[in-house]
Amino acid sequence: MDGKRMRYNALSLVKNALSGNRSWKPAWRDATPKAGYDVVVIGGGGHGLATAYYLAKEHGLTNIAVLEKSWIGSGNAGRNTTIIRSNYLMPGNVPFYELSMKLWEGLEQDLNYNAMVSQRGVLNLYHSDPQRDAYARRGNAMRLNGIDAELLDREQVRAMVPYLDFDSARFPVQGGLLQGRGGTARHDAVVWGYARAADMRGVDIVQGCEVTGIRTDNGRVTGVETTRGLIGAGKVALAVAGNSSRLAAMVGLRLPIESHVLQAFVSEAIKPLVDTVITFGAGHFYVSQSDKGSLVFGGDIDGYNSYAQRGNLPVVEDVCESAMALMPMLGRLRVLRSWGGIMDMSMDGSPIIDTTPVEGLYLNSGWCYGGFKATPASGLCFAHLIARNTPHDAAAAYRLDRFATGRLIDEKGAGAQPNLH
Ligand SMILES: Cc1cc2nc3c(=O)[nH]c(=O)nc-3n(C[C@H](O)[C@H](O)[C@H](O)COP(=O)(O)OP(=O)(O)OC[C@H]3O[C@@H](n4cnc5c(N)ncnc54)[C@H](O)[C@@H]3O)c2cc1C
Repeated sequence: MDGKRMRYNALSLVKNALSGNRSWKPAWRDATPKAGYDVVVIGGGGHGLATAYYLAKEHGLTNIAVLEKSWIGSGNAGRNTTIIRSNYLMPGNVPFYELSMKLWEGLEQDLNYNAMVSQRGVLNLYHSDPQRDAYARRGNAMRLNGIDAELLDREQVRAMVPYLDFDSARFPVQGGLLQGRGGTARHDAVVWGYARAADMRGVDIVQGCEVTGIRTDNGRVTGVETTRGLIGAGKVALAVAGNSSRLAAMVGLRLPIESHVLQAFVSEAIKPLVDTVITFGAGHFYVSQSDKGSLVFGGDIDGYNSYAQRGNLPVVEDVCESAMALMPMLGRLRVLRSWGGIMDMSMDGSPIIDTTPVEGLYLNSGWCYGGFKATPASGLCFAHLIARNTPHDAAAAYRLDRFATGRLIDEKGAGAQPNLH
């Protein structure tokens, strides 16, 4: 089986370069589903694939399938704006997102795959005194937890990104909160890297396999019904992001999740301009530049429930207005493409990694705008929960019952722009 997969090293690169690139092998097998598995992970996005990888790597489980209804990375994993950061305020979130950042920092070596992790910095702009105070508070919380954060004044921001409209009459830029270790990672490569690494450890990745039902017996999961037949399972793990409420409904569970559309945009390619990630503090707009030269930007959710992976024009207008307010020069740029993804919005803005009332059924959901940056830690902590039936320390606060007990992790109250991914 191993001989059929591509191994990446300097020698194989040279051999392929000299032989006309004709002997590259697929990065992972296209598996046919078996009759049953110890663990079935539903959802071939970043979280599902990372979960399978860490189940195999950290817990020695290999009889695992990842079932994806479309192709892997066709959901939010391949639709996001690729920003990674750990600039959170709330105690439940801080250790988790910093764990994720540390995993990003070693990910390429771990997976032996170029995920193009680029720690180019994430700069949140502030435009008023109260907003500065909110960012100072967040920065202090980060530093107290050993996370890098720097509060910049207007001139320090100007030295970094001189092309912003600092003197806009309505929203003058006063400064910003910088996390230098934040940045971007190539989202497709993250999916492919985890898929390849999981496959190398024996995980079956099954594409074109939609789960249409979850079988239970006496309150315990026994398997899943799929478009490719019935598949038995000792444990079933949901990692389906915007479709979480649909899958949970298959066993009669109602989740504190709403599905909303979030759109993103890329412009035509331009010369290198934006060498960090910038978020506007006075409107719904954030921007970075891809390695191909396109500006990648986005804004707020469309604001109504939907399972459609496409958005509507009012948000396009809102994002473009904010873009023009911050960087008037963008008015001369053409938008090349825009698209939408389905966000699993939880009611306190924080995720859920927990068991469910159905024995053997595990839930990973509620990522809102921010699940891409969470991919490594989400996979690691979800795998820990599935393998050991106890939460990982870093994700212990992400309980499903917090919405009943009132122990919310209300990150929405943190900072002036919690809406920005
Ligand atoms: C426009 C946009 C911009 C974003 N920007 C950022 C950002 O900059 N930074 C950040 O941290 N986060 C960002 N996010 C959020 C992030 O992308 C998500 O939170 C994260 O990708 C969700 O986890 P996932 O990768 O596993 O989800 P997905 O990739 O959506 O994976 C879920 C998979 O489940 C599959 N599935 C669903 N139902 C079934 C079924 N019945 N059977 C089998 N398979 C099924 C879907 O096809 C899908 O592939 C953004 C999201 C969007 C849409």
